[in-house]
This record gives sequence, structure tokens and C-alpha cells, in this order.
Amino acid sequence: MSTPTLPSFFSMYQQLIAQPSISSIDPKWDHSNQKVVNLLAEWLEILGFECEINELQSQPGKFNLLARRGDGSGGLLLSGHTDTVPYDASRWNFDPFKLTEQDNRWYGLGSIDMKGFFAFVIQALSELDAAQQNKPVMILATADEETTMDGAREVSRFANLKPDYCVIGEPTDMRPVYAHKGHMSEVIRITGRSGHSSDPELGINAIELMHEVISALMKLKEEFKHKYSDSSFSVPHPTMNFGHIHGGDNANRICGCCELHLDIRPLPGLSVDELYVHLHQATENIQARYPGSIELISLHHPIPAFQQSTDSALVQLAEKISKTQAQAVNYCTEAPFLQELGCETLVMGPGSIRQAHQPDEYLLTESIKPTQEKLKSLLKSYCFSG
Ligand SMILES: [Zn+2]
Repeated sequence: MSTPTLPSFFSMYQQLIAQPSISSIDPKWDHSNQKVVNLLAEWLEILGFECEINELQSQPGKFNLLARRGDGSGGLLLSGHTDTVPYDASRWNFDPFKLTEQDNRWYGLGSIDMKGFFAFVIQALSELDAAQQNKPVMILATADEETTMDGAREVSRFANLKPDYCVIGEPTDMRPVYAHKGHMSEVIRITGRSGHSSDPELGINAIELMHEVISALMKLKEEFKHKYSDSSFSVPHPTMNFGHIHGGDNANRICGCCELHLDIRPLPGLSVDELYVHLHQATENIQARYPGSIELISLHHPIPAFQQSTDSALVQLAEKISKTQAQAVNYCTEAPFLQELGCETLVMGPGSIRQAHQPDEYLLTESIKPTQEKLKSLLKSYCFSG
């Protein structure tokens, strides 16, 4: 039997793009990511990695992959998600699943968000001398980042995963990202009691209660502005957006039920738990007067804010390698979950966030060589001697 050889960089890229791995809360779109994970395991095994594949407990049919090479503790974890968002076929000029080279761009769904990152990492590793490796190198490939982040929420199921450093290769044009806000989507549901409009005493009007709740939340929103501020963010305070409201049916009925959907984006330093305490306190008075009438329901599991100290060794090294200052951004990543492993964590990867979730997603071919060099510098700094 001949020993398998690693495909070329372009071929790896092509095969990753060709394998649909869309995640979506709409079952019509939702795919398994198993084939992507299997491809990565096959290539990483050629490079001497030991691969462990975990089916998610929360999402059967979705898989996390952890590949490790090298003994000892610590080391560097390079992490990415294997899923992509759905695509709008009418707005794509290319086949989203066929890597197409044109005008110095590589087009394909996931070319920069972010299956391509794995091809970069594997290529970089193949160009370094494994005999010189002196610290563990780990590759993590997660499921369902674009929907629930359930893959990242389950990484602690891998035994003894304790890297010193973690870099998540989301598209940042290879600029280090050290902080982002969190994200929560919550529903406030008020259940009153309906009745004929001619006698208000017959019921409890949910719209009137909602009016009180909204007033309380608007006060809280102002308090957040004064209490929390971080000028490294373009919007320097936590935000709260009322995005959807629905209540009642008829003008002549006391409204029995009213629902508000809100989006909250906390700054680092304001935890999800604290936020729930704030929400509870803001509505405490109303709850006391109408016990059991106000429910708070999450539309999805909250994503905490993320921050890595800019003094940390990892941020300093990434700034040196990229020759750019680390920045705070407005989108969420898996970073807060991976940071829980106890490692210094940062986000830095090929491609631009402006292309992410867009039709005709592409990688600029001129960025390939410099990206490979930067990834090799990162790996050499932490895991290779000489
Ligand atoms: Zn992404």
C-alpha cells in the first residue's frame, strides 16, 4: 500500500468548498459537517496528527474535530468553524461549491468564512519540519458556529485540552482582534387577562404592562450608556434594540398577551449573568404588582462578550507578526467559549469580514503567500525550535 500524500493547497481548498456544510435553523438548509471534518482528519493524519471526532450532544449529526501532534502540556490551538451560512443562488455569479479562480480571486462559499483557513493551516504545517516541533500543535474544527455555537460550547468534552494559546482564524485580513461584544436575543412575554373593552376592571391589559416594561428598559439602556463605556468600540456602550412587538387582536378586547423581542449587545466586562440580573431588577416592581405575568425567554443561547488583554504575550506576538495593532470588532466569534479553556485567545485569519455572508465570497490570491508566512511565523514562535 502506498502512503497517502497531502493534496496541493489549491486541491485542499477546492475539496473543502465542494463539500456543503451549511448550518441553519431552517432544516431545509441545514447540512451535516461530517464530510468536512473527515477530510480534515484524513489530511491531518498524513501529517502525523491524532484525530478525535465528537458528535455533538446537542446536535446529533454535527461533529467537532480535535487533532493533536506533539507531547507535553500547553502549545498552540488553531481553531475554526466548519459550517457556512446558506447562500442566495440568485445573487451568486459562481457555483458556491466550486472553487473558481478569476480576476485574482478564489470564489466559493466558505472561502474566507472560513473553511479555507484549514487549508492554510495544513499547508503551513506541511512546510514546517515536524522534527523541530517542541510544543503541542492542536487543530480544532467546530460545528454550527453560524447558528447556535453549539460546537464551541462543547469543546470542553475533549479530554486534556489545555493549550497556552488559541488563535481563531475568522476573516480579519490577518489583523489581530482582541475583543468583541456579546449578543443576546430575548423575548419578553407579558400575559395579562383579556376581557371586554367596556370594563377595564375585567382584565389585565398586557399592552399597558408592556408600556411600563419598555419604560423601565429604556431607563436601563440609558444607565448602561453611563455605566459602561469602551472607546475601542465604534459604538462604545452596550446596546439594546427593540426589534419586534406584537400584542392583542381587537380594539374592543383587553389585550391578554404582548410580546417584545429585543437584541442586547454587552461590552466585555458586562457578563450575561449580570445582564439578566439587570433585566430582572428593572422589571422587579412590575413583577411584584402582577406576579407571574412577565416571562423572559431566550431566542438563542447568549454569546458572551470577549476580551483578551492587549498586554498578553499572544496579542503582542500577533501585532508583531501582522504589523498591525489589535482591534475590537462588532461581530461575535467562538472566542469567549475557547477562552474558557484557560488559554490566551485571539481572532486572526485570512480574508475580509466584508466578504463574509455575502454572495460571491472570495479570497484575494495576493493574500495567500503573506498569510502562509504569518501562520508559519506564529507556529514557529510557539511550537518549533530553530
Ligand atoms: Zn465565521
